[in-house]
Amino acid sequence: MLNVLLVGNGQCGNRILDAVNKHAMNRGSNVKEAGGGLSKYFSKHNYQSNVQTIAINTAINDLKEMKFTKAKDRIHIKNLHGVGANRNIGKEVFEQQKGNILKAIEDRGDFDVAFVVTSASGGTGSSFTPPLIEEIKKSHNFPVYALVILPFREEGTLYLQNAAFMLKELREGPCDGIILADNQYLKTIGGSVQEAYDGINSMIAKRLLFLLDSLDSEMMMVTDLGDFKTVMSGGAGLATVGYYKAESEMPIRTVIQNCLSPRGLLFSTDVYKEGGRAMVILKGDKKYLSMEEISNEVEKLSGAIGHVFKGVIVENGSLPEALCVLTLNSAEELESLYEGAIQAIGMEKDKKDRVKKKKEMESSFMTIDGMDPEY
Ligand code: GDP
Repeated sequence: MLNVLLVGNGQCGNRILDAVNKHAMNRGSNVKEAGGGLSKYFSKHNYQSNVQTIAINTAINDLKEMKFTKAKDRIHIKNLHGVGANRNIGKEVFEQQKGNILKAIEDRGDFDVAFVVTSASGGTGSSFTPPLIEEIKKSHNFPVYALVILPFREEGTLYLQNAAFMLKELREGPCDGIILADNQYLKTIGGSVQEAYDGINSMIAKRLLFLLDSLDSEMMMVTDLGDFKTVMSGGAGLATVGYYKAESEMPIRTVIQNCLSPRGLLFSTDVYKEGGRAMVILKGDKKYLSMEEISNEVEKLSGAIGHVFKGVIVENGSLPEALCVLTLNSAEELESLYEGAIQAIGMEKDKKDRVKKKKEMESSFMTIDGMDPEY
């Protein structure tokens, strides 16, 4: 059985972690409607592996908002006024308080793999995640992956520049790979902002659970953590995930195609153009799992991008579903985010210069303090 550490940093990371715990509870046969009330203390998360979840935040209210994550798994990092969206403050707070965070992780035992979930753009998650991964890697050999949520592009200059710097730090550090999910790309889910968040969080949670299951499963054809590591070490250190579940009977080739199409992915990419390596996992009743169709689709993908691992999980009576982990050699969408970030940094700098000029102006006014006009 795999030992998995799942950390959710900051508000976005906490909420996604909570969504993962919610889905892990709800798939239990006897806790169909788990959640809320006392469930966070007594319900059982139905993970296939030994999954330890830890939510970290400077804002206590974000931690209190969690409904499906046990109270003991929520760690409040005290800092009087939060960190705003200021990553410099966030990094200082992490440095001062990292002992508490690392102890909480150490107390859970050893792991085979860890995932740290966070937004790229806020204050706490975005500033805590790169140094946290660095600290974990200093004393452990297991791979640590970051699952990073990119902002809606209209959320403002601070969020954009935070995202750009955070991703740069992650790529330059010892993080074993970055899995991207993009709010901007997924916002077609619609509804209010909260409904969009809930929808996106649920999409991400389902994919993560499927991935964990497939790394720790007795499959007909096996993929495992070793394959996942190989996939994640390909490409430019960036990856994304595609998923599709049939709602009615459907040939497996269509399920795979949907999983790799824009409707299935968490980040905007042309799989066949930007893909590096991939791992495709199929699940469902045996009658849907035509090996010929699976091989044809996988060969199409490997012909375009290179190596593709495939795995098959037989689940009696289930409609077919597919998950794909795809590393990227290039990411046009990320390049355009960086262009936006450069503009954002320029705008912030201009604003600062204007404030400085205003201050110079004020000091000119002060030079005549105590004087009277002479006529
Ligand atoms: P932090 O608590 O300081 O780390 O900041 P947040 O996690 O709130 O980061 C702000 C970014 O996260 C913005 O880009 C938000 O759009 C995004 N965000 C906040 N909450 C959620 C959520 O529940 N789901 C998703 N997908 N994004 C979120």
